Amino acid sequence: MLSPHQTRSPTPLSRLCALGVPDARAELERLVPEGAGWTATDVDNLGHAPGRWPAALVRPAALVEAWLDQTRGLQALESRWNAEVAALVRRDGQWQALDVHGEVLAQAPVVVVAAAFGSLAILEGQHGLDASALPIRPVQGQLTMAPLVGEPLAPRPMRNNGVFVPAYEDSCLPPAWPSRVWAMGSTYERGCQDTTVRNSAHERNADSLQQMHPLAATELRDRLANGELLGWAQIRCASLDRVPMVGAAPDVPALKVMMQEAGHRRGRVPLADTPRLPGLYLLTAFGSRGLTLAQWCADWLAAQMNGEPSSLPDSDRDLERAMDPARFAWKIARRQDA
Ligand SMILES: Cc1cc2nc3c(=O)[nH]c(=O)nc-3n(C[C@H](O)[C@H](O)[C@H](O)COP(=O)(O)OP(=O)(O)OC[C@H]3O[C@@H](n4cnc5c(N)ncnc54)[C@H](O)[C@@H]3O)c2cc1C
Repeated sequence: MLSPHQTRSPTPLSRLCALGVPDARAELERLVPEGAGWTATDVDNLGHAPGRWPAALVRPAALVEAWLDQTRGLQALESRWNAEVAALVRRDGQWQALDVHGEVLAQAPVVVVAAAFGSLAILEGQHGLDASALPIRPVQGQLTMAPLVGEPLAPRPMRNNGVFVPAYEDSCLPPAWPSRVWAMGSTYERGCQDTTVRNSAHERNADSLQQMHPLAATELRDRLANGELLGWAQIRCASLDRVPMVGAAPDVPALKVMMQEAGHRRGRVPLADTPRLPGLYLLTAFGSRGLTLAQWCADWLAAQMNGEPSSLPDSDRDLERAMDPARFAWKIARRQDA
């Protein structure tokens, strides 16, 4: 679901989401016919920030395919699928992505690591980039779905502890899927990286649904008993402060040296002065908000990489620091300097 992130008072994440939602929606409208990958709706918030908010139900693969088609059309895309990057090394001014046998999968002077939680393993060991400088965590989740037969049980989606989607229709779902489904999700398992679909997670979704719509929860449990549920379990990637990591990778040892220099002792290192690894960027840690944040963050990062002026108004420039992948390295360096 693409929807606003409602909080009592604005946070960096809610402000980023406020920028991301209209951007993602515009991309959907530009590239994917409504009904063939997304559909506009409203969502009733029942818990905190109660009210009805505009939203969209999205099959992310439809948007990703549209982006890939567009890039292929520009003849600007060479893809290597199912190729796991085991390490990234810098040789002769190029970043080389190596497979597990040390063979070069691809190389370029500029690299964006956008592998969610897998980004840590790819970057670990580069100039002090470790789990303390890049504190990202896996948060496994499972979505429960079932074919929709007859009328939906509610007029629109509702959210409290999870989101209940009473109906989603899509003319382009994979052939093995029913064209109408209802869904409830999702579970949160911090630290878990297992993507097995489990009945126990369906049951947890039923418990969350019980508070919102007891009749739908009964249907979920009936379908679970009859083995009629579909499930999707995957890994979110969350940073320690829940804000994405977007920008140039820091050179941690050089940053530590800089922090020891007079003038930087107590203050913050200006963004422009932060030592960076040449040509290495991160675009990761979207947590539960990838649909909302990916397009806007990627666009912002591309502008940075091209040396274009930031699209952010002055009042929002603090968000650049909030999502800077160097922010945790600064904290470590400052502590060591104290
Ligand atoms: C159950 C569930 C429900 C969700 N619901 C929503 C929702 O309603 N709305 C929303 O906005 N977001 C939702 N999310 C979150 C959303 O899916 C993520 O925020 C989004 O997928 C992040 O996009 P990404 O491209 O950064 O990472 P991913 O989509 O995780 O993609 C990372 C890719 O990197 C690849 N990779 C990893 N390591 C390597 C390596 N070493 N070499 C090569 N490739 C590698 C992986 O195979 C993967 O394809 C949900 C997530 C889950 C699990």
